[in-house]
Amino acid sequence: MSSAADPACIFCKIIEGKIPSRKVHEDEELLVFHDIHPWAPVHFLMVPKAHVPSLAQVGPEHEALLGRMLTLAPKLALQEGCRPYPDGGYRVVINTGAEGGQEVRHLHVHVMGGPRPWLKG
Ligand code: AMP
Ligand code: ZN
Repeated sequence: MSSAADPACIFCKIIEGKIPSRKVHEDEELLVFHDIHPWAPVHFLMVPKAHVPSLAQVGPEHEALLGRMLTLAPKLALQEGCRPYPDGGYRVVINTGAEGGQEVRHLHVHVMGGPRPWLKG
């Protein structure tokens, strides 16, 4: 399930430019911006421009989108300062639902990296 912007959704507001963000990457399908409360020296969020509430709502129509997000993540991680695999690296996390730790109900991929210790994670 995906739909037009949800007026109550903070990430839709960021995508529409109504709330500012520190942008990492933008294309026709995706917006990537720095997390406002980073857990790690590098911490950005990758969000589809379409309002998909979570990973629980994805279907076959999202396969290409999810593939693009996961193939773009390593490139942007290095661009943003993560050191290369295997000594460097990063965590890629998709919190899903309340018990999965999801707070913002717009599908997003966390990419976290940089020297440890981290604040969390
Ligand atoms: P989650 O718990 O997986 O839903 O993560 C939501 C993330 O969005 C948290 O890490 C927040 O710090 C981040 N966040 C919330 N509001 C903003 C914002 N206005 N700009 C950037 N990141 C945000
Ligand atoms: Zn949204």
